[in-house]
Amino acid sequence: MLSRPNIYVFSDKDKNNDRKHVLNTSFQDNLKLQGVGMTSQRTRERLVQRLVDKGITNLHVLDAMRRLPRHLFLDEALSHRAYEDTALPIGHGQTLSQPYIVARMTELLIGATVKRDKVLEIGTGSGYQTSLLASFVGELYSVERIKPLQDKARQILRQLRINNVRLYHADGGFGWPSQGPFDAILSAAAPARIPDDLKQQLAPDGVLIIPVGEQEQVLTMVIRKGDSDEFHQQAIEPVKFVPLLHGVTR
Ligand code: SAH
Repeated sequence: MLSRPNIYVFSDKDKNNDRKHVLNTSFQDNLKLQGVGMTSQRTRERLVQRLVDKGITNLHVLDAMRRLPRHLFLDEALSHRAYEDTALPIGHGQTLSQPYIVARMTELLIGATVKRDKVLEIGTGSGYQTSLLASFVGELYSVERIKPLQDKARQILRQLRINNVRLYHADGGFGWPSQGPFDAILSAAAPARIPDDLKQQLAPDGVLIIPVGEQEQVLTMVIRKGDSDEFHQQAIEPVKFVPLLHGVTR
């Protein structure tokens, strides 16, 4: 049974500002956002419980995960699997990240930063991680090398009325030099080694969260020590991401 859907509000209680993404959509749009059956609120609740079981503790992140309509980021044929805690294909050989890892990286980023006015994301993909992160930062800059994925992500961000995100079609291995420095950088694709350009685009005390490695990858957190050229590096946990590739495709 469908009940009248709530208006989703992504509130950011973590930061002392009043940014809110109010999904001020029509009743029909809201039905689609809320989803039915396998995309219903109850199914989402089960996913959130899984995230808790796996160790996600930040309540703001869990709340935002609960509200985010992951089924919208997938082709309709796959949307019934949207609230499984697995990575799923989005075309072009790329994947929608696993909810656990999206929540984990967001939680790490929030926990390690005081200031999140300007944040850079590498690998927009479907825009799923982008949408989550957007509710915890001032301005989000997101780079994607595959144009059709970027175009699709742009549409969904618009549909969700998320308007603090700027998208850039480029090789994110070089960061976004003209917009840096960034309070935090998060990468959804794994380089063999951490690109120096990304470290150099960190603001004082800035934090980089990035999977590193080829066959064996480790989620890694790099923190700039004040405004120095020294960096503290910490291994977080083993992960499996798509590789950070060079160049762009139209
Ligand atoms: N969080 C995204 C993950 C997408 S997979 C989601 O949930 O949808 C990682 C993305 O990184 C892919 O879209 C891939 O095209 C992109 N990517 C890989 N190398 C890149 C590079 N050098 N610059 C920008 N994007 C890159």
